[in-house]
This record gives sequence, C-alpha cells and structure tokens, in this order.
Amino acid sequence: MAAAAAHVLVFPFPLQGHINCMLPFATALAGAGVLVTFLHSDHNLRRLGRASAPDGPPSPRLRSLSIPDGLPDNDPRSVGGLLELVESLKAVASVAFRALLASLLSTTSPSRADHHHDGGFPPVTCVVADGYLPWAIDVADELCVPVLAFRTSSACSILAFLSAPRLFELGELPFPAGGDLDEPVRGVPGMESFLRRRDLPSSFRRAGEHGVNPRLPVLVEDTFHSGKARALIFNTAASLERSALAHIAPHMRDVFAVGPLHAMSPAPAVATSLWREDDGCVAWLDGQADRSVVYVSLGSLAVMSHGQFTEFLSGLVAAGHPFLWVLRPDMVGESRDGDATTPQDAIRAAAGDGKAHVVAWAPQWDVLRHRAVGCFLTHAGWNSTLEAVVEGVPMLCWPFFADQQINSRFVGAVWRNGLDMKDVCERGVVEKTVREAMESDEIRQSAEALAEQVKRDIADGGSSAMEFKRLVSFIRELGS
Ligand code: UDP
Repeated sequence: MAAAAAHVLVFPFPLQGHINCMLPFATALAGAGVLVTFLHSDHNLRRLGRASAPDGPPSPRLRSLSIPDGLPDNDPRSVGGLLELVESLKAVASVAFRALLASLLSTTSPSRADHHHDGGFPPVTCVVADGYLPWAIDVADELCVPVLAFRTSSACSILAFLSAPRLFELGELPFPAGGDLDEPVRGVPGMESFLRRRDLPSSFRRAGEHGVNPRLPVLVEDTFHSGKARALIFNTAASLERSALAHIAPHMRDVFAVGPLHAMSPAPAVATSLWREDDGCVAWLDGQADRSVVYVSLGSLAVMSHGQFTEFLSGLVAAGHPFLWVLRPDMVGESRDGDATTPQDAIRAAAGDGKAHVVAWAPQWDVLRHRAVGCFLTHAGWNSTLEAVVEGVPMLCWPFFADQQINSRFVGAVWRNGLDMKDVCERGVVEKTVREAMESDEIRQSAEALAEQVKRDIADGGSSAMEFKRLVSFIRELGS
C-alpha cells in the first residue's frame, strides 16, 4: 500500500488569484485521500490568519507551511511591485524552498496514524508548483522529486505564449508602431477566426525600444519551462477550452484539465482570503430584486485611474440599476484636479440612497450565486471568469492586464456569455453595455447554457471529474 502515502507539496505564486485556485485544488486532493502540504509565503499566512476564519474544521490531510518571500512585511505587494516580488521570490524564496523541500524529503516516515499530528506527514512524494515559479520546477528536479506544473490562468492564454515564436516568424510580432489593434492575428492555432491584436495577453502589446515588451520573452520562456515538468495542470474544463488544450498537449509531457476547481471541491476548510470579507453585502443583496444588481469587481490587483473610476461610476449610474462595487483600499488613483472626495463618497453621492453598496472585499463566490445579481462587471481574471461561468452570470469585461485580454475575447466572441468593452472606458459605452448585459435574453441564455455544460464537466463522470481521478492516480503512482 505504498501508494496510499502520496504526499504532495503544493506551491502557488503568493498572490490571491493563485491561492484561490490552488487551495481548492489542494482541498480536492486531500478529499481524495492524498496528503497535502500547502506552501504560503510567511506574509500571506499572517494575512490569512488576520483576515478570515476557516469555513470548517481543518482536514487532517491538509496542512499549511510558509517560507519568506523576501520583501519587508509592510511592502504592499501590489501590481506596481509585481516584478520586485517575482525577483525577490527567485532570490530568497528559492533558497528557503530548497531547504524546506530537502527537509520534507528526509523526514523519517512515521506510521500511517501519525500523520494526524502536526508535523507527522510522511516524506513528500511529489511537488505541484505554480508554472509562474519556473525555478521551483528546477529545484524539485535537482532534488529528484517528481514535479508537476500548475497554471492558474486560462489555457487559451498559455497557448498564446507557446505560439509567440510562431507569431515572430510570421511577422505578427512586434505589432507595427501605430498599427491597428483591431487587425486579426495569425499564428495562434484554433483562434485565427476571432483573435485580434488587442485580444492577446497584455505583454504582447508594443513596449520598449524595439516594440517588444521585455517581459514577453521571459513569460514565453517560463511557459515553455512547464514542459520540463511531468505534467501541466489547468484550472479549466475541456468543454470551455478543448481546442487550446489540444494544441498545448504536444508541448507538454501530459496535460490535465481539472476545473473549475472552486466548484468541484467543497469550500476549502482553510482560509483563502487575504482581505477580510464584508458579509454585509450579502445582507444588502437580500433586500434587492432578482437579477437587478450589477456586481462590480476588478479582482485583487487591478488599480484604476481616477478618470477611469469616474467613467465607470457615471456609466453605472446612468444605466439605472443598483450596483455592488468592490473597492479595495488604494484601488483608485488620486484625482488630478485635487478633488479630495473619496471614491466611496463619490459613489454614494452619485448613486443616491440605497442604490449602491461599496465594500473593500466581498465573499465573491456567495455574491455571484446570489439571486439578486444580474450581471458582473469584471476585469476577466481567470478565477472571476470561471466563477461567473459556473453561476451562469452574464459578464461585462473590462480587462486590465495579463490573460484578461484573451479571456474577455472568449467571453464576448466564443462563449458569448457576456460583452467585451476592452480598451474603451467611456461612460456612454459603460451605460450601454451594462444595459445590454443586464437585459439581453441571448446573453443570459448563453451564460446559463455554459453553466450547465461546465456543471456536467465537474459532475461524476464529467470530463474534469474524470481528469481529476486520472491525476490522483498519476500522483499516487509517482509516490509508489
Ligand atoms: N475575490 C473575492 N472578493 C472580492 C474580489 C475578488 O473573493 O471582493 C476573489 C475572486 O473570487 C477570485 C479572486 O479574488 O477568486 C481574484 O482572482 P482573479 O483571477 O479573478 O483576478 P486577479 O485578482 O488575479 O487579478
């Protein structure tokens, strides 16, 4: 019965969007009888402890450990400092990760019953490392531990990165200076009929002296690096991204599509939110009519200018529907004309009593499944996209960066469960598209059909459920 001692070290990039996807994954593994150590940064583990209470008793098969991320505790770890975090993890966390993994390998295997006690887990048999931490794959390799890569972004965005060399060959990249972003792009297989320049991940856009964003080659290399791992795991469903998954497969040793994970596993028994969730918004939603509310949330990283905020607010107010808006502290830039009104006060003043509710952080899974929510104005982060898809909520996308540009194209042009406002932030457009997303029967029907389809994927016998079982067997075999 050596296979029963499978012990997986799950290591996400230490950001909310990665935790929200890989923690349900860890919970599902533990639910399938696998022992899991979930590796946080020290900073995030402290924040989690402060921000949220666990939803239930901890699983005896899932524990959390942490290592330093190398940044001072008061560093905001915001989008502006993302590169610093990437570099600091590479320099500092990689050393701590190597030491930790080495110690978790040398732990003398306790008797089976002992793993119920803290620290009594048997040696690690496999690592699941975030593909955004390519060095973690190398460290595991060097220590001779089987390693699988996990991407928390959409498969379509990963295929775009894998296709980048071809796009250069075809002369599609770099985009011509002053070129039309609405031009179609050749070279990403399966997407040529609908992909425009503006739909590629944000790092494909012109930047720098020669028109190539210096981050692009790094991201492309990191993506190819996942091919060194035993397999690549995606939080997606075959029915959503069948073609992208098929085109990725030849680049990888194996591919597993096991999502949407948040809907597959029971709520994680350990805390997931780095911010304290404001449950008052659910009570506020209880007082609203069915499908009457626009839920506005731009995820955990996006920051908007004061001008963009004003356009969104004016458009939302003009559309006339009540709205619930998540505004993290420091999410809106300062006003250029010195106006000191806080965004919260500006919303209250513009929307009038009872028409708008503002929170710093919402229990998003509960909000999206609330009967009062009629549409989701979102940045189209991959977690948010999947969460809306599962609940059948029409989306209105205003992507900021990373895979959000291509996710929102899939929403607007492929799945048709919402609209894509990409790159145009004007009050008139916001008003018109909010109305359309709230009122269009066609969009609602597509959103509901998509939700049914994805629910079939995660139900017993569905493609994601079967893939998850295959993955658990794969992991157990690595440990035997
Ligand atoms: N989220 C949340 N409450 C909020 C806003 C966001 O719980 O008020 C969660 C959301 O459910 C999602 C995650 O934060 O799981 C954001 O991930 P996503 O991939 O959508 O975007 P990112 O934050 O990585 O840009």
